[in-house]
Amino acid sequence: MAARGIAAFLLPALVLLGCVADERIADAQALPTFNGELAMIALRRQVAIGPRVPGTDAHIETRDYLVEQLGVFADDVQLQSFTITDGDREIPMHNVVATFGNATESPVMLCAHWDTRPFADRDPNPDNRSTPIPGANDGASGVAVLIELARVFDIVAPPVPVVIVLFDGEDWGKTTANMFHGSRHYARNPTPARPQFAILLDMVGDADLSIPVEPTSLQAAPDIVRGVWATAQDMGVTQFSPRMGPAISDDHVLLIKAGIPAIDLIDFSYPPWHTVEDTPDKCSSESLGAVGSVVARYIYTLGG
Ligand SMILES: [Zn+2]
Repeated sequence: MAARGIAAFLLPALVLLGCVADERIADAQALPTFNGELAMIALRRQVAIGPRVPGTDAHIETRDYLVEQLGVFADDVQLQSFTITDGDREIPMHNVVATFGNATESPVMLCAHWDTRPFADRDPNPDNRSTPIPGANDGASGVAVLIELARVFDIVAPPVPVVIVLFDGEDWGKTTANMFHGSRHYARNPTPARPQFAILLDMVGDADLSIPVEPTSLQAAPDIVRGVWATAQDMGVTQFSPRMGPAISDDHVLLIKAGIPAIDLIDFSYPPWHTVEDTPDKCSSESLGAVGSVVARYIYTLGG
């Protein structure tokens, strides 16, 4: 995840109350359970491979792991490969694109970035600031939830076509102009079809998780924000807070600029952000489970 935008401001009594979740939620008992423990295993697995810095062996190993994992559950998995030029370096990057159902017809997009920041530039210890971050929360958490969602969607197919996209190169550069490479590339080259809307998951593993409403998301896709938060409220998932959070520079902004409504599920209140302390012990299966359960339920209420 990237830099903070406008400072937080307090809620204008979000219009969420009064939203009624879809009646089909009554059928939820028939839906498969999102397993936060399995998501936590997927988080730890990524961190164990090492920092997922483009241009490294661990990056390639992780790419292959993601293709293999999603390949178990999805109808199709493709790599969307591209190269960025940074100074005199050519850096190969790869978005991982997994589809469920006929995703050539305006699929719903779920996305996260899988790369990790090459340098811990927010670390309190200056000696650590050129060290890559472990990226347990900032990188692995969103991917872990999407891998577990893929398992769920394989058990009961979603009522709408779904495309899961794992973006590369989100956290690459020193400035935002040199970040978000995967989402920028995907927004220009949506595959297998242009998504009808997108839900981005970033930094969703914090053991002390509280996801506020992100203002850019609310502006770009108010109905999606209301639907997701109403689902959480209906399920009694308290990790989704109706307060307004800060505007965040993240992959959803690139999608929105390309005309794809997108929301960002992110808890930016995370002290280890962009430090070497962004490790699995700061994350929890409960937090991953809370986010994954809500997104799963929301997707199953679509269509019809
Ligand atoms: Zn980041």
